[in-house]
Amino acid sequence: MKCEHCTRKECSKKTKTDDPENASVGAPSPAQDSGEKGEFHKLADAKILLSDCLACDSCVTAEEGVQVSQQNARDFFRVLNLNKKCDTSKHKVLAVSVCPQSLPYFAAKLSLSVTDASRRLCGFLKSLGVHYVFDMAVAADFSILESQKEFVRRYHQHSEEEPMLPMLTSACPGWVRYAERVLGHPITPHLCTAKSPQQVMGSLVKDYFARRQNLSPDQIFHVIVAPCYDRKLEALREDVPTALNGSRAADCVLTSGEIIQMMEQSDLSVKDAAMDTLSGDRKEEEVRRHDSTSSDGHLAHVFRHAAKELFNEDVGEVTYRTLRNKDFREVTLEKSGEVLLRFAAAYGFRNLQNVVLKLKKGRLPFHFVEVLACAGGCLSGRGQAQAEDGRADRALLRQMEGIYAAIPVRAPETSAHVQELYQEWLGGADSPRVREALHTAYQGPGQPASSRDIKW
Ligand code: SF4
Repeated sequence: MKCEHCTRKECSKKTKTDDPENASVGAPSPAQDSGEKGEFHKLADAKILLSDCLACDSCVTAEEGVQVSQQNARDFFRVLNLNKKCDTSKHKVLAVSVCPQSLPYFAAKLSLSVTDASRRLCGFLKSLGVHYVFDMAVAADFSILESQKEFVRRYHQHSEEEPMLPMLTSACPGWVRYAERVLGHPITPHLCTAKSPQQVMGSLVKDYFARRQNLSPDQIFHVIVAPCYDRKLEALREDVPTALNGSRAADCVLTSGEIIQMMEQSDLSVKDAAMDTLSGDRKEEEVRRHDSTSSDGHLAHVFRHAAKELFNEDVGEVTYRTLRNKDFREVTLEKSGEVLLRFAAAYGFRNLQNVVLKLKKGRLPFHFVEVLACAGGCLSGRGQAQAEDGRADRALLRQMEGIYAAIPVRAPETSAHVQELYQEWLGGADSPRVREALHTAYQGPGQPASSRDIKW
C-alpha cells in the first residue's frame, strides 16, 4: 500500500497490523487495561491504522507510532469517564477545537447547512460531557497575520548572499514533518516561522483560556478535530511554549471521520448548541472561512497584504493561473508589464517535490509558495475524504468543496476578537511575547532547532 503523499522509492511503509508502528488503535486504553469500562466504551471502537497516516513511516519512530495510535476515541472517552467519577483530582476540563476544513464534512454527512452542522457537532460533544467547543478559525487568523508580517520582513531582508525568499508556508504538518525529517537544509530556513493553526490553538487554549478560567494548562484536556492523521503527529511536536508548563498544545487529535463514527453509534439525544469563544463571554458568530477553496488561505491573504504593504496596490479577487496541473497554480502582481510578486500554490507530494527540486537548484521563480501535502488541499485529508476502499471519495469531495466555497470569507485583519486577543493575551501585536507564543523554529534531520535569522 502506498502512503498518502510520499512517492519516495525508499519509503518503507508497512501494511501489516502485527507491526507495532502499524498497530490498530483498537488496542486497549490504559483505562481498559485496568478493567475500567465506562458507559461510552461501545462508542470507542473506531479502528485506525497508522498506515492511514501521511508520514511515510520512515519518518515515524516506534515510540511516536505508539503515541499516535493512543490518540483515539478511547482516550477521549477515558477522560469523559474519569470526569464522572468521584475522584475530582483526576477531573479535566474538556475543550475541543474544530478545524474549519472539518465543518464541510459534517455538513455533507449530516445533510445540514454548515452553520447547523457546527451547532449539531457542538451539541453532540456537549451531550457527551465536553465543556467547551471552539472554532479553530481564530487560530488560523493568527497564523495568517503572523505569516503576512514575516513575508514583508523577509522581502525587505532578502539578498543573494542571504536568501530569505521564497517563503514556504508551515501550516500543513505533513509537509513540515517531511521538510524537517527528510529535507533539512537548505529547505527548512525557507519555512515560515509562524506556527500552524493547531499549534496556535494549543497556546490559546492552554495559556490564554486557562488563565482566564484560573486553570493550570494540565487541568485542560485539549482535543482537536481535524481532516487528517498528520495532525496527530503534529500533536507530538516538542516545541512547547514555556507558558504551557510542559503540557502539550493538543492532548488528542481525532479525525472528522472518527467523530462521525461516534455520532452514528450514539443514541444520546442531542440539543444543538453554538460554539464557545475563548473569552467565554459570548457565542461565536456565523461560520466564516478564509480566502481559499480548500485550505486556510495563507496564499491569498499574504498576497493581498504584501501587495498593499510593499507596492501600495489594492488586490480585490486573487486570480490563479494553472501551471503543471490543477494543484500547481500561480498568482502574480504585475505593473507596467513587470512582475512585482509571484506566488504559487503547490498541493500534493509530486508538486511539493517539484518545488523542492527547483529550490535546491536555485531555479524556483516564486516569492512565496503555499505548500500542502494533500493533493486538492485540506478538504481531501484522509481523515474525512476517504471511501471505504481507501480511495478518495470524489463525490463527497465535490460536495464538501461546494459547501466550503459557499461559506462567506472573512479577512483575519477584520476580526475584532483577534485584535482584542493580541492586546489582552500578548500585550500587543508587536510585543516580544508574540515571538514565543506564535512562532517556532525547525529542525533538520539530526540537527537542533533552527530557522532563518529574521530581524524582528
Ligand atoms: S494538506 Fe492534508 S496533511 Fe496537510 S494539514 Fe491539510 S489535510 Fe492535513
